[in-house]
Amino acid sequence: MTKTTFVTKEQLEAIAAEFPTPFHLYDEKGIRETARALNRAFAWNGGFCEYFAVKATPNPHIMKILAQEGCGMDCSSLTELMLCEKIGIAGSNIMFSSNETPDRDFLLAVKLGAYINLDDFTHIEILDKLAGIPKTIFCRYNPGGEFKGESGHVMDTPADAKYGFTKEQLIEGYKILRDKGAERFGIHAFLASNTKTGDYYPVLARTLFETVVEIKEKVGVEIGFVNLSGGVGIAYHPDDTPNNIQAIGRGVEKCFNEIMVPAGLGNAAVFTELGRFVLAPNGCLVTRAIREKHIHKEYIGVDACAANLMRPAIYGAYHHITVAGKENAPNSHKYDVVGGLCENNDKFAVDRALPKIDTGDLLIIHDTGAHGFSMGYNYNGKLRSAELLLKEDGSVKMIRRAETPEDYFATLQTLPAGMGV
Ligand SMILES: *Cc1c(COP(=O)(O)O)cnc(C)c1O
Repeated sequence: MTKTTFVTKEQLEAIAAEFPTPFHLYDEKGIRETARALNRAFAWNGGFCEYFAVKATPNPHIMKILAQEGCGMDCSSLTELMLCEKIGIAGSNIMFSSNETPDRDFLLAVKLGAYINLDDFTHIEILDKLAGIPKTIFCRYNPGGEFKGESGHVMDTPADAKYGFTKEQLIEGYKILRDKGAERFGIHAFLASNTKTGDYYPVLARTLFETVVEIKEKVGVEIGFVNLSGGVGIAYHPDDTPNNIQAIGRGVEKCFNEIMVPAGLGNAAVFTELGRFVLAPNGCLVTRAIREKHIHKEYIGVDACAANLMRPAIYGAYHHITVAGKENAPNSHKYDVVGGLCENNDKFAVDRALPKIDTGDLLIIHDTGAHGFSMGYNYNGKLRSAELLLKEDGSVKMIRRAETPEDYFATLQTLPAGMGV
């Protein structure tokens, strides 16, 4: 399969004439369409809500678009909560799913009236002492062992994950929370990431629904919110089959009708906290070829680096690359496409078959809309890029400027006088 982009070479050249490369570019139309498809897939559930995982793309302009599409926000830290506060998102429109949570993060979540999703049994007492137990409270479940898909393939190993309560802690935890005055309860689990087989949500939902029924029987607590969290993947590679979100929604519905409805829990709301699925395909990193190098391999040096997109360097993740204007040219060359960090893992592509690349060509690195810009860092004194939004009317709006050297130096303390060198 070929992978297409949401911008043409002409559009890109015009954008790059105004905004220097590299930059992350997001597609408003695609973001809205993806959010609508997700909402349609779960429309069978009256209380459904997607809480967008803010950590994937923490930009208030993007968050606002998603809020207009009916999404809440899933925050994991103080500053992500502050982003919501700044744009007027509060109360049940915020899910606070954090771990090793500092006191001040809890306090802001309580102040904003957010749904709080406790990551650990010990947090019950900590939150109670800090601010009291809110009327609505969530607990994160970690079933341990291996998490297997429908055909028995291992999707991930929750036994090794730092998150959540064990089953025993969950049963004890809901009792304590009820005794401390909680009235509405939710459950949450995140057991595998970037899943591609379509069965992740249905199998996870089955696990959670069965746990909800068990808790109703053992504790007498009725869980009214089931949060499937994130983890639905996207087709990074042209040969990957994209997840069919409508089929995934129907898979969850089937389990809901089989387990929840007969147990008298048919009014429960299903929540998601997708980041990658909603945003990744709707953003790209645009960078220019600035150098070429011919030694033991062929290298193309670009003006972006792993500080702008870390996934290839740390996970060996595949991100598709197209050369603007050469979409239909034969992939006659084999290159390593590299950034300028003094780290040999700073490679966006290794031994990638691509058309002949000339200095000055614009390269589109696909699917960087989630966990792209947001994982950026400043190693080697590299600066974070701008973020741009391609609006539905075709215009482009800068939604975050590029960092400058002044930003990089802004946190330094002034040297004491007389320390001349
Ligand atoms: C990271 C994260 C998400 C989003 O994960 P995706 O892979 O982007 O779908 C959702 N919820 C929690 C608690 C997370 O940590």
